[in-house]
Amino acid sequence: MDVITHWRAGEPWAGTGERLGDVYDPATGQVARQVALASAEDVESVVAAAAEAGREWAAASLSRRTSVLFAFREVLARRRSEVAEAITAEHGKVLDDALGEVQRGLEVVEFACGAPHLLKGGFSDGVSTGVDVYSIRQPLGVVGVVSPFNFPAMVPLWFVPVAIACGNAVVLKPSEKDPSASLLLAELWAEAGLPAGVFSVLQGDKVAVDGLLTHPDVKAVSFVGSTPVARYVYETGTAHGKRVQALGGAKNHMVVLPDADLESAADAAVSAGFGSAGERCMAVSALVCVDPVADALVPLIASRMSALVTGDGRRGCDMGPLVTGAHRDKVASYVEAGVAAGASLVVDGREVVPTGEPGGFWLGPTLFDRVEPGMAVYDEEIFGPVLSVVRVATYDDALALVNANPYGNGTAIFTHDGGAARRFQREVEVGMVGINVPIPVPMAYYSFGGWKSSLFGDTHAHGTEGVHFFTRGKVVTSRWPSPDAPRPGVDLGFPQHT
Ligand code: NAD
Repeated sequence: MDVITHWRAGEPWAGTGERLGDVYDPATGQVARQVALASAEDVESVVAAAAEAGREWAAASLSRRTSVLFAFREVLARRRSEVAEAITAEHGKVLDDALGEVQRGLEVVEFACGAPHLLKGGFSDGVSTGVDVYSIRQPLGVVGVVSPFNFPAMVPLWFVPVAIACGNAVVLKPSEKDPSASLLLAELWAEAGLPAGVFSVLQGDKVAVDGLLTHPDVKAVSFVGSTPVARYVYETGTAHGKRVQALGGAKNHMVVLPDADLESAADAAVSAGFGSAGERCMAVSALVCVDPVADALVPLIASRMSALVTGDGRRGCDMGPLVTGAHRDKVASYVEAGVAAGASLVVDGREVVPTGEPGGFWLGPTLFDRVEPGMAVYDEEIFGPVLSVVRVATYDDALALVNANPYGNGTAIFTHDGGAARRFQREVEVGMVGINVPIPVPMAYYSFGGWKSSLFGDTHAHGTEGVHFFTRGKVVTSRWPSPDAPRPGVDLGFPQHT
C-alpha cells in the first residue's frame, strides 16, 4: 500500500518514525493508502532543514520572492484539477466543491504576489536636525502551519503564500485524514522554483504538532481546527514564546426576518447547510426564524432537500460522504440525540439512498425543526449535514441567541430591511457577517477569522493581518549630519528631538 511521506529539503522523505495512519476513501469506506506519522526526531530534522533554507530566503530580494509566487500561481492554476482530485479522493467532497476550494486558495496566492506593497514601511524625513526615522518589516524565520481535514488545500493556502512572500520558511502539518494534497502543493512549489527547504511538509498527529509548538526555532504557529485543540495550541505555543493564531470551531447562525425573500433564503440555507456535507467552518448550522417565518420556510427547505443527491463526489452528485466512519457515526448520534430531546425531525438523513458503494461513510441531509438551546443538536458543533431550525419571536430574541453562543465565526441575516441589516452588522458579536449572503468568507485581501471561542490570538488569516502576523516591525532612527554641522556633544539627558 502507498505511504504518503513527509517533504523535507525539497523532496519526499520517509522519516524515521515507525507509526503509520490509515487514509480512507470515504466514498467506499476502504483504506486507500497510509500516511507516515512523524516522530519527535522527524520534527527536529524537518525544522533544521527549514531553518537553514530560511536564512537564505529571508535575504532574497522582494523581486525574487514575488517571481516565485507568480510562478506558483501559474502552476497551481494549471494543475488545479490534480489537487481537486486528491482532495475528493480523501475528503469526499464533490469535485466541483474541491475545485472551488483550490480557487479560493489561489486568490490568496494572488494577494501574496502583491506583498511587497504591503511590506513597505514608513519614512519620516528630518524628524530632528539631520535625523530620519523609518520602519521596516522583517520575516520571523521558521513558521508552522497546522491544518484541519475539511480544507486540505485552501486552509494551508490561507497562510503559506503570505508567510513565504514575507520571507519565512514554512513547515506545514496537514490533517492526517487527507494528507495527499499537501504533497502535491510541495511539488508545485518546487516546480515554481522555490528553493528547497523553504516549504516543508511534516505528516503526523499530536506528536508532530507538539514538536512544532515547543521547538525553539519555530517562531510562530498558525493553527486551524476544533476549539479544544485550538485553545491547547494557543496556550502551549504562547507558553513557549511563540506568536500563535489559532482558529477554532463554529456554530453559525443564519437569521431570517419576516420581510426576507423566503425562496432565496431557502436556497441559501440548503446550499450553506449541506455544501461539503456540512463539513465547513462557515456552514450554516442553526437557522433562526423570526415568527412566523418557519411555517413557510421549513417546507421550502424540505422540498429542495428532496432533490439533493448524496453520492460519490467523483461521479456527479450534490453531496459526498463524511470524512471517516467515526465522524459519520458521531454526526448520526446527534440526530438520535435531537429526536430524544424532542426536536421535530423533518428530513432524516440516516435514511439516505446514496449513489455510491454501500461501505461509504454516508449520511444524507437532515433537517430538524423546533430546536432549542439546551439540546445537544443546538449546543454543540456537529460538523455534518444537519440543519436545525430555531423559532424565535422577535429580532431582539434572534440577536440575543446569536450573541449568547460561545462561538463567533460566521453569521448571516436575510432581510429586505437595510436598517435591520445595518443594526445586526453593528450589534452581532461574530467575526464575519453576511447580509443576504449565507457563507460570508472574506476575499483574500480582507482577513478571515472569528471571535470568541472561534479564534485564539490577535490576528486573523491573510489580508493585511496575515502580513503582520508573519513579520516583525523594526523602527530605525538614523543621523547623517551634514559635514559642517556642529557635533551634539555629550548629553546625559533623555534624547529629545529638536
Ligand atoms: P482537529 O482539531 O481534530 O484537527 C486539526 C489539526 O490539529 C490536525 O492537523 C490534527 O492532526 C491536529 N490535532 C488534532 N488533535 C490534536 C491534539 N490533541 N494536539 C495537537 N494537535 C492535534 O480538527 P479537524 O477535525 O481536522 O477539523 C474540523 C474542525 O476545524 C472543526 O471544528 C471546524 O470548525 C474547524 N475549522 C475551523 C476553521 C476556522 O477558520 N475557524 C476552518 C476550518 C475548520
